[in-house]
Amino acid sequence: MNKEELWETVLAQIQFKISKANFATWFKNTEIINKEGEKILISVPNAFSKEWLEQKYNKFILKTLHDLDRGIREIKYVIGENKKKEASIQNNISSAVIADQLDFEEFKINKATNLNPRYTFENFVVGPFNEIAHAAAWAISKEPGVVYNPLFIYGGVGLGKTHLIQAVGNKITENCADKKIKYSSAEKFISGIVNSIKNHSIESFKEEYQKIDVLIIDDIQFLAGKEKTQEEFFHLFNSLYEKNKQIILSSDRLPKAIPSLEERLRSRFEGGMIADIGIPDYETRLAILKTKTKQKGVNLSDEILEYIAFSIQNNIREIEGALNRIIAYKRLNNKTVTLESVKSLLKKIIKTPRKIVTPSQLIKLVAQFYDLKEEDLFTSSRRKEVVKPRQIAMYLLRKDLKNSYPTIGRKLGGKDHTTVIYGCEKITEELGENESLVEEIRLIRQRIHSG
Ligand code: ADP
Ligand code: MG
Repeated sequence: MNKEELWETVLAQIQFKISKANFATWFKNTEIINKEGEKILISVPNAFSKEWLEQKYNKFILKTLHDLDRGIREIKYVIGENKKKEASIQNNISSAVIADQLDFEEFKINKATNLNPRYTFENFVVGPFNEIAHAAAWAISKEPGVVYNPLFIYGGVGLGKTHLIQAVGNKITENCADKKIKYSSAEKFISGIVNSIKNHSIESFKEEYQKIDVLIIDDIQFLAGKEKTQEEFFHLFNSLYEKNKQIILSSDRLPKAIPSLEERLRSRFEGGMIADIGIPDYETRLAILKTKTKQKGVNLSDEILEYIAFSIQNNIREIEGALNRIIAYKRLNNKTVTLESVKSLLKKIIKTPRKIVTPSQLIKLVAQFYDLKEEDLFTSSRRKEVVKPRQIAMYLLRKDLKNSYPTIGRKLGGKDHTTVIYGCEKITEELGENESLVEEIRLIRQRIHSG
């Protein structure tokens, strides 16, 4: 096999094992330039690919090469001169992929606790929008099981719930090494239960959980409608609670807004401390950006940071994503970043502050939010689990999409326009006295408009 064929064969194999985007980013414009004894020389388009291939893919590439040619034991990556131009053309897709990767940089999830060490109190920025949640979490990390139990943190997507509840876990690990901590997403927890029932290992699954001192379950709203899991969770909750073990939960909404959640669980969730995380104000967004640039060791002008803080408002994850994109761009091009290039890089994220949704997309989102099928909203059912979401759909179609009453009626399975008017009025009225409804509608809107 000559070197071209060898590399082609390697690429063909690698292609199957990693995502398309990753493949295009890291392996495009690479080639074998030489083979010197046990050593293979691979040409790569730029310094960043070189670093990445060396650190993340070297083992993998070496194994693939070694399987094809037992003589090969070492790889050296060199930056190829003639490829530089092509690389910069490709930068735009690459920077998106690299930006995603920056998120995972160097952090290893702890196998025993499932905690990601990147989420700490030290790098959690506190502002008016999250200070109560932060204070409660901090207090718990000092005295787990004593002050607030359970702690229930709720708020919209990308606002720091996972970060905060994992920070508690990481802090406790640091302070008291002997405490047994477990973090799990509700989805993982549910599938754990379902699988262990299937495998007849539910008893040992439960025993494992009984030994925990601090249990952290993320996105607990996913328990909606999962009866069997709710039942198991209820018993687990009680037995940990009675032993003064700390329980920490996060959710995208208040307990009473989680659909088909058993009453007894709801009242348990409400029995401790409930704290919300809202939308960060401009000052805090800027502070977050400054903390993150410092952490990542990059320098961006105030003008650029202010532009990002001003343009991305509702979601800290998006702010971070934007920043990662700019950093990736900077590393690839190796030059100072101007405000103009930032604007063009972020065009896609920022251009449409309000995403345009169609009525059917809106109806779908409302149904999903309440764990219903769209068709449920088209029926004439008088069940309150259906009536309220249906009226909320009417309200949002009217307020946000400016649909006419008869149109809304048609979209919702042929209702009379008077029913729609009544529905919209009902919600408007209730918004004045029901804070939880205000919160729910805020969350639904966040999904509708930020996608
Ligand atoms: P949620 O769980 O609410 O969807 P995450 O906790 O995953 O949100 O946060 C999204 C991203 O924003 C994470 O990378 C997180 O580190 C970051 N983040 C959120 N809140 C803060 C904060 N107050 N300070 C610093 N980074 C934050
Ligand atoms: Mg989360």
